[in-house]
Amino acid sequence: MPALGSSARSEEVGVPRAHSTRGQKGRRRSHLALRKAGLVSCSHCHKPKLPHRVCKSCGFYGEKEIINVLARELKKKEKHKQK
Ligand SMILES: [Zn+2]
Repeated sequence: MPALGSSARSEEVGVPRAHSTRGQKGRRRSHLALRKAGLVSCSHCHKPKLPHRVCKSCGFYGEKEIINVLARELKKKEKHKQK
């Protein structure tokens, strides 16, 4: 086992240099909060969806149908049947 010199040890392990007060911690952490994901209603089915993303419930993005939701559902069911 190698001898633990006091200087070598403090380089390896994070040792607090100074006491940080509750206020300092609070101010530092005031920017750490997560924000809620913004939801917009789909222009096609009016269900809530994430902005700039294809709607999960109808598969539309703007005026265009990107995903055929019904075909996807059928595919899923067939997969379940096989198992
Ligand atoms: Zn939709």
